[in-house]
Amino acid sequence: MAGTKHDGGAIELGVGRTALMVAAARAIETHRPDSLARDGFAEHFVRAARTCEDWPLRMEQVPDGDADPLWGRLGRYFGLRTRVLDDFVLRSARAGGRQVVLLGAGLDSRAFRLDWPSGCVLFEIDRGPVLEFKQDVLDKLGATTKTRRVPIAGDLRGDWTATLIAAGFDPAVPSVWLAEGLMLYLSSAAERGLIDTVDSLSAEGSSLAFEVKLGVERPEVRANAVYTSAKQRIGIDLLTLFDREPRPDSTRDLERKGWSTEVKTPFDFTRQFGRGPRPEPDDALASNRWVFASKPRP
Ligand code: SAM
Repeated sequence: MAGTKHDGGAIELGVGRTALMVAAARAIETHRPDSLARDGFAEHFVRAARTCEDWPLRMEQVPDGDADPLWGRLGRYFGLRTRVLDDFVLRSARAGGRQVVLLGAGLDSRAFRLDWPSGCVLFEIDRGPVLEFKQDVLDKLGATTKTRRVPIAGDLRGDWTATLIAAGFDPAVPSVWLAEGLMLYLSSAAERGLIDTVDSLSAEGSSLAFEVKLGVERPEVRANAVYTSAKQRIGIDLLTLFDREPRPDSTRDLERKGWSTEVKTPFDFTRQFGRGPRPEPDDALASNRWVFASKPRP
C-alpha cells in the first residue's frame, strides 16, 4: 500500500475509527519482542487512512512506552484480546464449528492469518464503508485468505438474518460467533436483538464470545487517561460512542436460553500469559468482561 491513501469516508469517522485504533494496537503488538498476537496486515490498514498518518506502529514510536495510557495500556489490552479470541475461534472451529461469524468484524484479518481447519467459512459483518476500505487495502496488498471469506455489509442493529443465510450460512450446522469490541456501541435493545438472533441461528454445538462492560462507569473512571488520551490524541471519544443506557445481562439471557457461559476479566488472561494490562485505580478496563458461551449438544 505504500504511497496510496484511501479517501477516508466513514471508516475514519465515528465508530468506524475505533477499528483503525484496534488495528494500530495490533500493529504495535505484532512488533513487540514479547508479542501475544501477530497481525502483519494491521499496519497497512492504519497507513492507508489519511487521518492516521502520525499514529505509531511500533512501541519504539511511543515515547512513554508501556506507561502510555493509549498505546501502552489500552494497546496491550487489544493485543491480549486478540490473542485470547484467536485461541477461542480456532479452538471452536477445530471442535467442529466450521462456519465462523465475525460480528462488527472491522479490520479483523483472521481469515488471512490463522491456520483454519479445512472446510471453514468466515462471514464478516460490518458496515459497508468499513468493509470497502478493508477490501481496498487487502486487494492492493494482494492478500490471499487461508479459508473461505464472505464479507457482508449490514447494520447489526437491524435484521440481518436473511442476508446471512442468503450469503450461505446454514443454521442447522454448528457455528462460532465473535462480537469483539461491538456490544459497547450498541443500545440495550440492539444487544438483546443481537443475542436473540445469534441464539436463533445457532445449532447445538455452537459457541459465542463477546465483550461487554458491566454498566455505566463512575465519573472517576470516565476521567481515566485511557479515555482522555484517546479523545485528545486520536479523536476517538469512546465515552460518547459507548451507549449510555443500563446494559442488558446478555450472559444471563443466554443461560436462560440453555447456553453454558464462562465470564472472565482481561486480568485473568494477563495472569495466564504473564503479559497484559494490570489493574489500576479508577480503571477504564475494570468493568470489561469477556464472555464465552456454548450451546450444548444433547
Ligand atoms: N471486531 C473488530 C476488532 O476487534 O478489530 C472491530 C472492532 S471496532 C472497535 C468496532 C466495529 O464494530 C467497527 O468496525 C464498527 O464499524 C462495527 N460496528 C459498530 N456498530 C455496528 C453496527 N450497528 N453494525 C455493523 N457494524 C457495527
